[in-house]
Amino acid sequence: MENDRGYFGQFGGAFIPEILSATFDQLEDAFIKAKSDQSFWHDYETLMQTYSCRPTPLTFAANLSRYFGGAKIYIKREDLNHTGAHKANNVIGQGLLVQRMGKTRVIAETGAGQHGVATATMAARFGFECTIYMGAKDVLRQRPNVFWMQRLGATVVPVESGCKILKDAINEALRDWATNMDNTHYVLGTACGPHPFPTMVAWLQSIIGQEARRQILEAEGKLPDRVYACVGGGSNALGLFSAFLDDPVELVGVEAGGDGIDSGRHASRLSAPDASVGIAQGYKTYFLQDQDGQMRETHSIAAGLDYVGVSPILSKLKESQRARFEAATDTEVLEAAALVMRLEGLIPALESAHAFVQAFKEAPQLSRDHSIIVNLSGRGDKDIFTIADAFDDPGWKEFILLKAHQYNA
Ligand SMILES: *Cc1c(COP(=O)(O)O)cnc(C)c1O
Repeated sequence: MENDRGYFGQFGGAFIPEILSATFDQLEDAFIKAKSDQSFWHDYETLMQTYSCRPTPLTFAANLSRYFGGAKIYIKREDLNHTGAHKANNVIGQGLLVQRMGKTRVIAETGAGQHGVATATMAARFGFECTIYMGAKDVLRQRPNVFWMQRLGATVVPVESGCKILKDAINEALRDWATNMDNTHYVLGTACGPHPFPTMVAWLQSIIGQEARRQILEAEGKLPDRVYACVGGGSNALGLFSAFLDDPVELVGVEAGGDGIDSGRHASRLSAPDASVGIAQGYKTYFLQDQDGQMRETHSIAAGLDYVGVSPILSKLKESQRARFEAATDTEVLEAAALVMRLEGLIPALESAHAFVQAFKEAPQLSRDHSIIVNLSGRGDKDIFTIADAFDDPGWKEFILLKAHQYNA
């Protein structure tokens, strides 16, 4: 699907400062070598098996299937990865590449902190020095993740420039990289950014789809009719979709509808009419931007989907109509999450719950002969603050007040 130098149709590319071009060449070189060297994938799979619970199961959701009375619903269990989400696939894979390049230091950007924790975990395991850039506002909002990054040995740098959020952290990380290219690798968190990151991250995440394809064939004796994944930057979706690209399987990506597509308060770049093609952050894709190309503020109840850009590979899949994109609102997401908890005993991340929303809308239209797969990209323990607030849980409030009281005493 990729043509020369990381273009997917008109999308992708590498718009990088001249000073970084040697580093990008080196990375692309290491990536191409790893891809053609079977021992890399073998080492990767072995490490994921012994460190991160791979292969993750494909769980038949008997209760949800019965409840909706249509297609058989299967759930791919990326929540069982170490650190609680599919992000482990990407960071561990990049860790192996860093080792091969002989570098000793990793840096990363993080918004909600999940990618920061995953990167800090990988760095501890590989013995790399680790610096995480995080908008100062996010440092305040995401204290539990900051706490764990620091315990794992990472230095967390609060970024005070701009709006003090994710995009400012990305700029700061790029600045660090330009100064420390010799020993440092930038662990980008999703299938976005300049080439070769989208291709490389999608390739590492393809382990999800490879397993899921094998597992559904074992369980059902045939391919699924549709597969669903939530879309932030696009890495878990591409990980699942990649195995079914050449099959008669419908690929459905679900974005953050926030307060609703018409409200303007959302993060839907592929399913909303108000996104447009542009070049920013080193690549060309659909962005949520104003007429002057200024990035808009996005909104989602799920911090991991709250991003202005999206993978150029998904933009291409949208344009070629190979994949379909939908949006789920915050309210729908909370309802779906509650149902998954009550009926299957699984606590989905609010990100992943977006995929369930759309699957639940469509499952009843299909029959029992059909099967669908929903990617449970991560577990929802991290969302306890948001979910407890949303359900206005009195016991939780009392607990928080008690803690505050203890500190004040
Ligand atoms: C980060 C995250 C996402 C969004 O990232 P993608 O690159 O779109 O996959 C989705 N789900 C969970 C649980 C996450 O932590």
